[in-house]
Amino acid sequence: MNEKLIFDLSRSGRKGYSLSGSDIPEVPLESILPLEHLRSEQAPLPEISESEVVRHFVRLSNMNFHVDKGMYPLGSCTMKYNPKINDYTFTLPGFAALHPLQPAESAQGALRLMYELSEMLREIAGMAAVTLQPAAGAHGELTGILLIKKYHESIGSKRKKLLVVDSAHGTNPASAALAGYEIISVSGNAEGRTDIEDLARKLDSDVAALMLTNPNTIGLFEKEIVRIAKMVHDNGSLLYMDGANMNALLGISRPGDMGFDVVHYNLHKTFSTPHGGGGPGSGPVGVCEKLVPFLPVPVVEKQEDSEGTSYRLSYDHPDSIGRMINFYGNFGVLVRAYTYIRMLGAEGLGRVSENAIINANYLLSLLEANFDLPYPKPVMHEFCLSGDRQKKKHGVRTLDMAKRLLDYGFHAPTIYFPLIVSEALMIEPTETESKETLDSFADALNRIAEEAATDPELVLSAPVTTPVKRLDEAQASRQLNICCL
Ligand SMILES: *Cc1c(COP(=O)(O)O)cnc(C)c1O
Repeated sequence: MNEKLIFDLSRSGRKGYSLSGSDIPEVPLESILPLEHLRSEQAPLPEISESEVVRHFVRLSNMNFHVDKGMYPLGSCTMKYNPKINDYTFTLPGFAALHPLQPAESAQGALRLMYELSEMLREIAGMAAVTLQPAAGAHGELTGILLIKKYHESIGSKRKKLLVVDSAHGTNPASAALAGYEIISVSGNAEGRTDIEDLARKLDSDVAALMLTNPNTIGLFEKEIVRIAKMVHDNGSLLYMDGANMNALLGISRPGDMGFDVVHYNLHKTFSTPHGGGGPGSGPVGVCEKLVPFLPVPVVEKQEDSEGTSYRLSYDHPDSIGRMINFYGNFGVLVRAYTYIRMLGAEGLGRVSENAIINANYLLSLLEANFDLPYPKPVMHEFCLSGDRQKKKHGVRTLDMAKRLLDYGFHAPTIYFPLIVSEALMIEPTETESKETLDSFADALNRIAEEAATDPELVLSAPVTTPVKRLDEAQASRQLNICCL
C-alpha cells in the first residue's frame, strides 16, 4: 500500500469532467477582472480523470482508520457512528448554499433551525437559554468562563480564581487561564470523585467558579453533586459543567437540575458529526437565568405578529460579552445535530444514554480480569483501565497495546488520560456499537494482554499490518513531511 501523490498521478490534458461545448460566447478575462489581478500562468493543479480521482481518495481512506471502517472507542471523545441522514440534510441546497450575509428574511429556515436547536439543547440540559456560537468544546468553555467573569463584574466582584478538578480535560485549565483566571486544582478522592474536603478548603471568597465534568472523565457520576452545588453557591461562586460528553445523561438527568449555572455541549461528540483532526466542531453553551443577559450576540429570536411567525438576529443586548465567532457558528454541525435529535426524539435520546451506559459496563465486565481497574464500578458511559500490570510484569506499555489494536482492526482508545491514572486506557464504546462488535473488541484486547505475557516483542513492534508502522508521534507533529508545496 503505497499511494502516489495526486500530483504524481497527473497527466497533461486529462480532465475530471466532460461537457459538450458551450453556446455562450467567450469573453476576454481582462474584461471581467483587471489585468493585474489575473494569473500569468495556469495554477499547477493535477490533471486527472474522475475515476482516478475517486479511486485515489478511496485508497487513501482505506489506509486510514475511521469510524465508517471500524470501532473507535475513544474515551472522552465520543466517536459514535454518524448517521448518513445528517449529511443528506446538511447538503440540502437551502442549507449548504446559504450565504452568511444573506438578509434574515431570506434565511428563515436556517434561523428557525438554529432557534429550535437551541430550544432542544436548553431542554436537554435544563438551562434557561443556549448560544450556538462557539466552534468547539474548548471555545464553549472560554465563552462560559467569559460569561461567569461578566456576571461577577456586573455585581462588582473581582474574584480571580477558578477551581478545576484534577481529572479534568486539559482544555478546562487552559480556557480558564485564557480568560485571565488563576487556576487552583481540586483533588479527587479514592473513589475517583471530587474530594469534598479538599473542595471546602479551597473554596474561598476569591473563587469565581468551580469547573466540573459529570460524569467525570473516569466515567463516574458525582454522587454529591447537589451538595457540591450548594457549597459553591453559598460561597457566591458559580458552577460550570464540562458537558462535552453528555452521552450518559440524555433524557435521564439534567445539569440545570443538578445546580449547574453554565454548561457546554459538544455537538460533535454527543450529537454525532464526524470529528477529529481539528474540526469541524460546535460547542454551544447553556446558562441559568441570571447569565442570560450576557450571552453572545447576535441572538436568534422568534417573533410572532399579525403576519405569523418569523425569526431574526437580534443585536440589542447591551450587556452581552459580544461575538465569539464571525457570523453565527458552525452551521453544518448545527444541521447535523438538529437532524440527529429530531430523528431520535425524546424517547430515542433516553435510549442513547441507556445503551451507552449498558455498553460501557458490558465491555468493562469482559476486560476487567486482564487489566487493572483503578476505581470501583459501576461506570456510566466510559471507563478507565490501567496497563500497570503489563508494564511492570512484561515491559509492555499502554502505548504498545494501543498500537497493537490497529492490527486487530480497531482504533486505540484514549491513552494516558486522565493524568491521575497511570498507563491509562480510557474506553468509551458509545451506544452505536453492537454486542458482536463489543465482543470482538474485548477479544482483541484480551488477546493483546496474553501476547504481552507470551510474546512481548510482537506487541512492542506493533502495528505490523498498517501502511505506516510505529511513528515517533512527537516528531511527526513537529516536523511535517510536506512535499509538493
Ligand atoms: C473533547 C472534550 C473537550 C474539548 O472539546 P473540543 O471540541 O476538542 O475543544 C473538553 N472537555 C472534555 C471532557 C472533552 O471530552
